Formats: sequence, C-alpha cells, structure tokens
Amino acid sequence: MFSDRISRIQPSATLAMTSKAAELKRNNKPVYNMSVGEPDFPTPSNIQEAGIDAIKNGHTRYTPGGGTFELKDAICQKLKRDNNLFFDINQVVVSCGGKHSLYNACQVLFQAGDEVIIFSPYWVSFPDFVTVTGAKPVFVETNPASQNEPNFDDLKNKITNKTKGIIINSPSNPTGGVWSDDAIVTLLEMIQDRSDIWVFSDECYEQLTYDIPFKSIATFNPDLDNIITFQSCSKTYAMTGWRIGYLAGNAKLVNAIAKLQGQSTSCPNSIAQYAAIEALTGDQECVLDMKKKFHKRRDLILQELSKISNITCEKPNGAFYVFPNIGHYLNTCNHKGEPIRTSSDLSLYILDMTGVVTVAGDSFGAPNYIRLSYATSDQVIIDACQLINQALLKLNF
Ligand code: PMP
Repeated sequence: MFSDRISRIQPSATLAMTSKAAELKRNNKPVYNMSVGEPDFPTPSNIQEAGIDAIKNGHTRYTPGGGTFELKDAICQKLKRDNNLFFDINQVVVSCGGKHSLYNACQVLFQAGDEVIIFSPYWVSFPDFVTVTGAKPVFVETNPASQNEPNFDDLKNKITNKTKGIIINSPSNPTGGVWSDDAIVTLLEMIQDRSDIWVFSDECYEQLTYDIPFKSIATFNPDLDNIITFQSCSKTYAMTGWRIGYLAGNAKLVNAIAKLQGQSTSCPNSIAQYAAIEALTGDQECVLDMKKKFHKRRDLILQELSKISNITCEKPNGAFYVFPNIGHYLNTCNHKGEPIRTSSDLSLYILDMTGVVTVAGDSFGAPNYIRLSYATSDQVIIDACQLINQALLKLNF
C-alpha cells in the first residue's frame, strides 16, 4: 500500500519513550523522566515577548521559503559572534528545526548508490535520514574512552568511491562526547582530496560544552565549500517547540534546499522566525545560565551513577546526556524469570519497576548502553539513579 520510501524508516525511539512516560503520567504513576531531549527551562521571556509582538504586529503571513532576510542576517551575525564563521545571507537557509535542515540536506544531496558515513553511537534519526533517500548508511566505530572520537582505522576502511557524505555530531547525542581539535583535523586531512564528500557538522549542542571551548568544524577550513554547518535555536534557547533551525554553507545547496522547502512546508513559521531574531541577537545571559546549570547537573549525575556497582560511565564534555555501559546487567532474568537480553529489555524493566524513563542504547547502535538525559531537576536525577540501582540489584544472574 505504501511507497518503499516509508518502509525504509523506523519510528523515532526517543519520541516513543516520551509518549510512554506521558502515558504513565496520565495514569497518575510516578515518573522520573530521564529520556527528554530538550531543556527543562521555559523559553526566556524576551524571546516569548518577541513572538507575541510578531503576532500583534501582523507578522503572521508566509515568508520567503528559506526564511526572512532579517533572520538570515541575524544568523550571519550570530555565526560571526559565537563561531568565528563568516557567511553571506545567500549561504544561509532557515528550516523548521535542525532536524528539518538535516533531512532537507540529505534529500538534496544523496540518492541510491551513495554511501554516507555515520559514527556509532549515533543520533537515532541519522540512519533514517540517509535510508529514506535510497543511500546506504555506513557505520564507523568510535572510542568511548576518548569522547567517542572516531576509530580512524575503521574510518579509513569505510571511505570508498561511493562515499558522498560524512555526518559529524559533536557534542554528541547520545554520548555527550566532544571531539578534540586533533580528531577533527585528522578527519579533514583524510578527505582533503575528496571534494565530492559533503561534511555535515550537526552543531545543535554547540553552546553546551563544559570542560573545553566549542569550535565549529568549518573554522578548521573556512574555504572548504563542502562543509555544512547545522545549528538550531532548540537547545540553546529552550525553543524546541518553536521549530527553528538553519544551515550555513555552499550557496547552491542553500538554493536547492529553499526550492525543496518552497514545495513542502512553504516556509518556516513566521512568528517563530521573529522570536528567533531576538534569541540570536538579544541578551545571551540566558545561554550562560542554562549552561551553568547543566554543568552542575552533569557532575551530579556522574557522582550518583558512580554509586551503582558494575556500570561504567565516561565523563562527557558536552550536551545533556550521559551514556553508561550497562552490559554487565544484560543476559540476566527479572524477578518473574523473564529474560533481560537487550538494552531495550533493560530499559523497559527499569521503567516497569521504578517509573524511570531511559532510552536503550539499541536505538543508537550501542547495545550495551542506555542514555540518561540530565535535562531535569537535581532531585529527579538523585531519585532516578537510586531507583535504577535498586532495580538492577533485583536482577538474577
Ligand atoms: N541533532 C541532534 C543530534 C539532536 O539531538 C536533535 C534534537 N534531538 C536535533 C539535531 C534536532 O533538533 P531540532 O529539530 O529541534 O532543532
């Protein structure tokens, strides 16, 4: 009944856990939601006001397909101010969230016969963005002990003459890993003779690095026309529901995406675009405030996880996730004698026993791990870690 295209993709695992948590809440069960992929803060009030003003001032109509001139101008200023990147307005296109920007770029660039490199563990949507185009995702291993930087031997073996793209996401969802300058330089050197390979840099967590400053990948080689920078208002300004993301890079690609968007969504939401101008050019204190809070919570969750026997957790330098290795607790049985074989089994077992919502590593290509988000209160972090510990202690080996 449906096209091949739709059968090639999977439902989003993280969104599935979010709806499970909502169901528990509806049934008045206690829920400790460690699965959320968004800040738990409200959108800062100056940005809210800009949205309200946009409505009152009549900015409620279609805009150009690739975003308003004013927002693209604000994005260019922001990229210069925060990332030391110098783009013209014709090198920027605004979409309905960073996810939409990534999806569009894959649609415009990839097709059957192409291979696209994705680093594992990966954000759940990357393989689906690629497979829906007919291209093949090719997975490259990373090293958990060094911020999930690539295994360069594996990368070397996986680059072929069919390789058309490489998707990088540092800081990473799900690991929180932030690549060092050396890792980025090594990767760019490896493909320096391959102007046919597009380098995607998904920087949606760019403002959330804790122990090292963030450097946008395009700054390592500003003249390279095949690096695409993807950013978003979602995480930086607690604006996930407003749906504003953008990419900057090759002007021809930007035109092609604006064309595709013009024939699909018409344009990004006009009101959200006005709010985004305020977010990007207004007072940036809110960004620092959120970052400080996340930094503290990262240290808290690592401290709490260290109290659980037989799990290991690296210290991630960015985003708001930790990615503990729970392999010790797989191939066990629960109190009813039912097998806990996979990280999905374990994640569901923890949810049933305690109300703690996690996301299984299976969906990120990492079967021995679970992802915990610390975009929640200190108390939820402390309680959830204790409850996970109690549930793990009840497993039979
Ligand atoms: N990239 C990564 C790695 C993400 O985790 C997310 C959100 N979960 C996005 C992109 C997209 O976010 P948005 O569409 O809200 O900008």
